[in-house]
Amino acid sequence: MPRTCFGPNHPRGEHLPDEKFQIKWTIGQGSLPKTYRAKICKDCQITVRNAKRDAEPYLHAFKSRRQDHAKRLHIHVADLIALGWDAELRALEMRHQFEQGYCPVCPYRRDGTPTLNFYRDMAEGLKELTIDIFNPDLAPIWPGNVWWVCKSCNLRMQREGKPSFGQKILDEHALRRQEMAGNGMDSLFPELAI
Ligand SMILES: [Zn+2]
Ligand SMILES: [Zn+2]
Repeated sequence: MPRTCFGPNHPRGEHLPDEKFQIKWTIGQGSLPKTYRAKICKDCQITVRNAKRDAEPYLHAFKSRRQDHAKRLHIHVADLIALGWDAELRALEMRHQFEQGYCPVCPYRRDGTPTLNFYRDMAEGLKELTIDIFNPDLAPIWPGNVWWVCKSCNLRMQREGKPSFGQKILDEHALRRQEMAGNGMDSLFPELAI
């Protein structure tokens, strides 16, 4: 039996086959989850989702990151919310991080001058602002065990483990310092002058 969609693409109502409507589940609260079809068709769902993304990019971006973390941790989004992953609050934080914040992991000295890597200046824009669970062996409680870091630091920390990644960052700093000292720029590091 065809269903009728009154979504944004079909304001006057469109009869469509059942398969055009996504199957959803109620969240089981003491009882078993129930399945049902979405009220609007899949195409209209995409339109609605895109409109939300354009209207509230940070809220949308935060929710999609939260969803990814829930999947990776094999827990429900509701569990993360209970641990402080509040979408409205963290999306606000995310906006200010992106506009004024910098990655706390990868500041370095450019030509001897302390330099911060601001998220807003990074090549891939908002995609660079990622969420990292500081100690993955502990609950992802926020605040306490969660911080914002840039995408490349996040990937490197996951791949290499935090202590060895930290050591590499320090080694990179040392290498730059040596190179600059070789270029007669050692006076830029008065702390190290003995
Ligand atoms: Zn529709
Ligand atoms: Zn970084």
